[in-house]
Amino acid sequence: MAAERVQVRGANFQQWAGIVALWVLASLTVLLSGIPEEARSGFSAAVLPVTALVAATSCLLTAKRSVGRRRRAWALLAAAGYVGFAGNAVAWFSGTTQTGDLAYLGALLIGVLALLSFPSSPVRRSRVARMVLDGVVVGGSVLFIAAVAVFPERQLNGGPTLASVLALIFPLLDAVLAALAVFLIARSSRSDRVPLVLVGLSFVLYALADLSYAILGITAFNLGTPVDLGWITGYALGGLAARHPGAVGQPRKLRQDESSPIAATVLTFSLFIVAAAVGVATMSTRPWSVVAVILWIVILGAVATRQTILVIDNERLRQELEGRVRARTTELRTMTLSTELMLSSVGDGIYGVDTDGRVTFVNPAAARTLGYATAALVGRDAHATFHAPGANGRPFPADGCYITEAIRDGVTASAEEDIYRRVDGKDIPVEVTASPLRGGSVILGAVVVFRDMTQRREVDRLKNEFVSVVSHELRTPLTSIRGSLGLLVGGAAGEMTPQAHRMVSIALESSERLSRLINDILEVERIEAGATPIEPVEQEARNLVEAAVDQVRGVADSEGVSLRLGDVVGRVHADADRIVQTFINLLGNAVKFSPRGSEVTIAARPSGAFVEFRVTDHGRGIPQDRLERIFGRFEQVDTSDAREKGGTGLGLAICRSIVERHGGRIWATSSPGMWSTFYVTLPRVEEPQPVDVPERGDKVER
Ligand code: ADP
Repeated sequence: MAAERVQVRGANFQQWAGIVALWVLASLTVLLSGIPEEARSGFSAAVLPVTALVAATSCLLTAKRSVGRRRRAWALLAAAGYVGFAGNAVAWFSGTTQTGDLAYLGALLIGVLALLSFPSSPVRRSRVARMVLDGVVVGGSVLFIAAVAVFPERQLNGGPTLASVLALIFPLLDAVLAALAVFLIARSSRSDRVPLVLVGLSFVLYALADLSYAILGITAFNLGTPVDLGWITGYALGGLAARHPGAVGQPRKLRQDESSPIAATVLTFSLFIVAAAVGVATMSTRPWSVVAVILWIVILGAVATRQTILVIDNERLRQELEGRVRARTTELRTMTLSTELMLSSVGDGIYGVDTDGRVTFVNPAAARTLGYATAALVGRDAHATFHAPGANGRPFPADGCYITEAIRDGVTASAEEDIYRRVDGKDIPVEVTASPLRGGSVILGAVVVFRDMTQRREVDRLKNEFVSVVSHELRTPLTSIRGSLGLLVGGAAGEMTPQAHRMVSIALESSERLSRLINDILEVERIEAGATPIEPVEQEARNLVEAAVDQVRGVADSEGVSLRLGDVVGRVHADADRIVQTFINLLGNAVKFSPRGSEVTIAARPSGAFVEFRVTDHGRGIPQDRLERIFGRFEQVDTSDAREKGGTGLGLAICRSIVERHGGRIWATSSPGMWSTFYVTLPRVEEPQPVDVPERGDKVER
């Protein structure tokens, strides 16, 4: 199908080129042959209009297939061809060459318009004017050289007739066209180049033929000489250009005006200078003809106009540029000012470091917090200057610093509890976030934002203190209340009525819950304040699990829940008391929320650098949206849990504190109504040779 379509479309470019070559060769053979001049002249007179017609139609067909400027350009070229054809046809029928002159002139002018219409990089109007003038200078210079140096006698002999001046207009226009075509070719894209080169060549050939005609034809010129070949080939190449696949053009983004005007200027002025030199050299030997003088005036006029346009253009450009620079400078200044204002007004400390960790900028808040002058900090190693040493008094390793992390790994690193050392040696608690500073794909350094937490820490401390004081204060009277109620229930004050006994029992139960709650609150505060030291030592995971199971077994039995110890493998770094407490809590919950007759399993297995513990029950399960929340303080799935199951909602919060302080993690998964599994990971002791497990929270919790 595709092949057929190609067939229908007719010959391709190569075939057309072959046809043109044959056509030109045949014409050449005829024109060079010995057949009578009459016959040759008749041949040319017929071949010229035919070629013009075919070429013009070729351009018209291409115009129909293209769009935009290209369409206009090809249409104009077609028009030029048809007008040329009209001239040739008139000449053919009238048997003279003179009558077609007006048509040729029109055709050439349309040709100029056509070339200017070809799409090229977008250019300003002044640029187009300059191109045309360059064409005039180039064409004029060539003609001038010919007029004064190559064919001086003819001009002299012929005298300054109107015909001789008119005859020069053609080659001049041709030369302008050829020059324009050359400039266009220089500015064309690669796909446009072949058709444009062909169009340019066609005009060059035209120029040559017209020039020969102008010089030879003044005295005796007729069709039928090889000169005709210039026109025939000119037409043929124009028509061939339209057959090139690139002629229609692909939609493409036009490049910005990127052609160098230097080449055009050099070409133009080189020719101008050569023309001037030739003129000066010949002036002394023989006077210039009128044609030469007119040409020279035209050239000088074109040069002057070109330069004037250039100066005006440059001046406008300069003003435009200056205006733009002024506007941009103001914009930049405003931007810099507002950035500076922002940086200096912000309450948080902000500083930047380069890839070596040296301070590149620092805002006033940062300098103020650290007690330095802004200028004194710039250029210093940030980590060495104000990162306080670790708790052990040794300098905090630069390798573990979040700045290094941000620069090295390109990640935003933060430390919630870091300490900076002021210039006066005072330590200040800070919360820090370091982000990599990127320039494209390269990391140029880091920006660090820190907040002085002194006040927040103080408030936290006061709050904790308050809570523990109140809790302590509540604990003592509560103990005596509980004791007294216990005695009452036990009958120490004599027999009570059943109703009184029930009420006192409820009071005892409530006071017990209250005391559990207070103990839990105190526990959480103690752990979070770091008052309960966590001292991990190497432990056999099995020992920890067994200790916890032993303690929960009693409750499990009474609840009718069986406790099963699964595979427990691995050694961990753990503070035994704390971890057993955690497991007891998890197993206790599992038993508490399991139906009678069901089973609770605990197992452990190594997983990467950790040992993973699992406590699974087949109880009521936990809804998806509560899986994370239950680890918060006082969080319970059901508000009635506290009453019915006697919980405080603090157990899992305590567990999480303990596990995280070990560098591990705790989380839960569940299928509501079916089962729940609680996971705990603890740093694993590498076997066979145990090595220190890196303290994960190191940089955060120093
Ligand atoms: P509590 O002292 O109330 O048990 P926890 O912090 O230990 O406090 O547990 C918080 C809540 O999480 C519980 O009240 C319960 O709603 C839910 N929960 C914990 N463990 C389980 C479990 N194994 N099955 C179902 N729900 C659970």
